[in-house]
Amino acid sequence: MKNTKYIFITGGVTSSLGKGIISSSLAKLLIARGFSVTIQKLDPYINIDPGTLNPYEHGECYVTEDGAETDLDLGHYERFTNITTSQANNVTTGRIYQTVIDKERRGDYLGKTVQIIPHITDEIKRRIKLLGKENYDFVITEIGGTVGDIESFPYIEAIRQLKWEMEGSTLVIHLTLVPYLSASKELKTKPTQHSVKMLLESGVQPDILVLRTERELTDEVRSKVAKFCNVNLDSVIESIDVETIYEVPLLMQKEKLDVAVLKKLKFPVSGTPDMKKWKLIVEKIKNTTCSVKIALIGKYVELPDAYKSINESLIHAGAYNNYSADLQFIHSEEINSENAASVLKDFGGIIVAPGFGHRGIEGKIEAIKFARENNIPFLGICLGMQCAVIEFARNKLNLINANSTEMHPNTPHPVIDLMDEQKSVIDLGGTMRLGSFKCTLSKESKLYEAYGVVNIIERHRHRYEFNNKYKDMFEKNGMKATGINPDSGLVEIIELSEHKWFTGVQFHPEYKSTVLNPHPIFIQFLKACKD
Ligand code: GLN
Repeated sequence: MKNTKYIFITGGVTSSLGKGIISSSLAKLLIARGFSVTIQKLDPYINIDPGTLNPYEHGECYVTEDGAETDLDLGHYERFTNITTSQANNVTTGRIYQTVIDKERRGDYLGKTVQIIPHITDEIKRRIKLLGKENYDFVITEIGGTVGDIESFPYIEAIRQLKWEMEGSTLVIHLTLVPYLSASKELKTKPTQHSVKMLLESGVQPDILVLRTERELTDEVRSKVAKFCNVNLDSVIESIDVETIYEVPLLMQKEKLDVAVLKKLKFPVSGTPDMKKWKLIVEKIKNTTCSVKIALIGKYVELPDAYKSINESLIHAGAYNNYSADLQFIHSEEINSENAASVLKDFGGIIVAPGFGHRGIEGKIEAIKFARENNIPFLGICLGMQCAVIEFARNKLNLINANSTEMHPNTPHPVIDLMDEQKSVIDLGGTMRLGSFKCTLSKESKLYEAYGVVNIIERHRHRYEFNNKYKDMFEKNGMKATGINPDSGLVEIIELSEHKWFTGVQFHPEYKSTVLNPHPIFIQFLKACKD
């Protein structure tokens, strides 16, 4: 059994400083040094998981191999480290309370008063240590929210207790902001000092400070922070704004974050992690000059985080192809039959995004019609695939008012219909077809060419599916079911045979693309767009 070390990442001053990226970067550096690492996110909201959240709240809902609906930071963890996460890697306050309340109902607390301390904090600690049981060298736990939030308090208290209980095996990294005031031309350290003070009031002394900044930190700023916040000078780490998030591990290597962590945890430190391959990819991401315009059509385009994984997958594929995607978001509600051609004519490729509900559906269908009729490479993901099926039914098979029963329960042609297993489902949380499923590819398909193998496994998140009653009719007219689930017979992929590149996938390839393993679908799609 390994003597697992626990690293906590907290945030101060404001949200959105990039705790997820710092956690992922540190993990990347430790892995490059040969350690085994996992990252966990604790989210202080009451929802059991983000599965029922509107993407406007916290951005995309990321899905793990084992079917957990999680925070989008888990996507960063996987993309940076190439290590898959699971249900245990994302825990919310809702889940913590649910476990405690279930125990109370069972009588497990033997008549005691159930309280935040110790019962809620004990459950938080149990969830943190659960990952340690899997024999990692390091468990990095990112605490969502900002220090000082009422919601975060039980988490900070749990960290305080763990620091005592596991002396020498824990470390707290606090990420804060050092703003630049242009009027006085100065970097300001006071917000950091206050934020550390707030942590100290809860009994937690941070070991390392990562300072997010727009300008280089002067030696004076670094030593001021070290002095006022009781940390060593080499534990003050600069995190300056960069062009791409994938540069952050290299920055952290330069700032010796990994060295500071190892030293504090009394590991012998020698050499530096080998990041050559990573560096090369970052160079490509930054310096690729050729690009192709790709339209992403969805209904949450005001918030790019809603499509985080698709965006990142295109960046990975772009670096691989030496050809980047100039991704532009187009609101599906703004496309109609009159303007589709003028809005979309300059794009080398079109992606129709996943989604739920009827808002924006008709715009998506118009965009797909334009892509199909004009031989423009098209990738439909989940709802995007379903819309491609509806479009083909209406405009090619003349099935008037064909639809998905999600949008139109009484459609005369339910070409997309609720899956049988979903018919008895009442609760919305965690009840979709979630996680990894097998798919068998037809050898006469573009995606077989892309993957180079017949059997693939991809992640799902949906309730509706292609209605197999219509399969023959679609296939006879040129829309082929080229990927089938071998166990259930569900259609997972459709392709148009008479088209340059037209593919709809019922699964989410974007969840499996990583920096070092770009996803074959995005690689091939981008190639088709470039041609
Ligand atoms: N709303 C569709 C379904 O549930 C598609 C879901 C998605 O795009 N993730 O089947």
